[in-house]
Amino acid sequence: MIDYHIHLERGPYTLEWVRRFWEQAESRGLTEIGITEHAHRFKEFRPVYEHLLEGVGHYPYVRSWLGGEFQYSIEEYFDLLEKARDDGMPIKVGIEADFFPSKMVLIRDILDEYSFDYILGSVHFLDKWSFDYDPKYGWAERDIDLVYLQYIAALKEAVASGMFDIMSHLDVIKVFGNRPSKDLEAEWDSLLEAIAASGLCIEISTAGLRKPVQEIYPEENLIRKAAQLHIPITIASDAHIPDDVGDQWETAVRTARQAGYTEYQIFTDRRAQSKPLPLI
Ligand SMILES: [Zn+2]
Ligand SMILES: [Zn+2]
Repeated sequence: MIDYHIHLERGPYTLEWVRRFWEQAESRGLTEIGITEHAHRFKEFRPVYEHLLEGVGHYPYVRSWLGGEFQYSIEEYFDLLEKARDDGMPIKVGIEADFFPSKMVLIRDILDEYSFDYILGSVHFLDKWSFDYDPKYGWAERDIDLVYLQYIAALKEAVASGMFDIMSHLDVIKVFGNRPSKDLEAEWDSLLEAIAASGLCIEISTAGLRKPVQEIYPEENLIRKAAQLHIPITIASDAHIPDDVGDQWETAVRTARQAGYTEYQIFTDRRAQSKPLPLI
């Protein structure tokens, strides 16, 4: 089994820190992990995120956390993970990139310069609002139905961009438990159809089980529909600390199997390969 969504961001870029993630993976019976740092960890991506830090509609809380990012170069990241591989750790080099329609060319140009094993596509911002940062920012003054519609529309644009291999935490908009009053089944269906048509993967992510919503990403109904559309999957924890690597992967696998899945994907040089899901 794998865990294809892991962040090193709460520690230094040292071999010792990476080893703690791998040791946790190994102790949970995993055979391969993918490290997927946020694009905003890297200097090269500053121009992609700059519009969030200033101007009309920007949020001071976003400026204060995001402004302190962009510390490493992508080269340093590759060097670190290559060292870890040389040291015998079965690690894939991924990245979790945000999609901003107005920055499409810029994002693509940066991503194309490096040989990632796979690229996660995520939506964490609607306009300049980072909706998953803290429930006290931005939710109270918004119409939740419109937030969901805007989120699904943004994901659709990300899918259509063709820049990504795997769409992360597909319904992370539910992170704090805010639910739409309208039935958005048709919108979700149309998103899943777009994902299927683009040949993209989605991840079955246990991160939601650790968040206020306490529910897997995406919800079981969406996983079932994704299975019917033959959308391939990866398994992910979205760990930000070693302890969470491989968190509840058995639940993810069981949920995927119940939805009709029998396989998951691993990636090398942006090419997917199917593996049988273990019997749990
Ligand atoms: Zn994310
Ligand atoms: Zn993540």
